[in-house]
Formats: sequence, structure tokens, C-alpha cells
Amino acid sequence: MRAKRIENIRVEVSPRDPIFGVLSEDQARRACKEITAAINRHVDGVGHVTVTHDTVYFCSYCGAKWTEASADYNGGCCDDDEQYNPHPEAVDATQ
Ligand SMILES: [Zn+2]
Repeated sequence: MRAKRIENIRVEVSPRDPIFGVLSEDQARRACKEITAAINRHVDGVGHVTVTHDTVYFCSYCGAKWTEASADYNGGCCDDDEQYNPHPEAVDATQ
């Protein structure tokens, strides 16, 4: 039977202005570090503020979401990816 436990309850802070897709990765990190410095200066009860991120894997050729365990082959999401198929269709040698 499935059970659930809630862990790691925490506060996350997002920038007021959109930064993802607008700023470069370096600019976004810098903007987030400025926010953490402001939080540390002005907010009581803060033990630790850190900048974190999510990692998204995608096909470098077509941009499709990466869905496979392999780091080389994404199930054939596009022709460029298909060249890395470890099990291409077997050629029928009887013909
Ligand atoms: Zn692809």
C-alpha cells in the first residue's frame, strides 16, 4: 500500500519579474543572489538562503523532453536522435 510523508517544508522565493527565458543563466543566477542578499539583510528568522535550480533534460537536436534512461538515445524523438538507436530495426536477410 502506498503511504505518504511530507518532508522538508520550506520557504521558496521567486523573483517578482520573470527571469527565465528573459535573462541568460548567469544573469538569472546574479539576480537570485541579489535577492538572497536582500533577504538576509531584511528578514528575521532566516537560517539559510540558497539559490537552487531544476535540471531539465531534453534532446539537443529537436528540444523534446528527454524520456529515456539512456544518455545517448531518446527513443527516436527525431531523425538525428534515431541515429543513436542501439537496436535499429533488424534487416530481413531472407529477402
Ligand atoms: Zn530529438
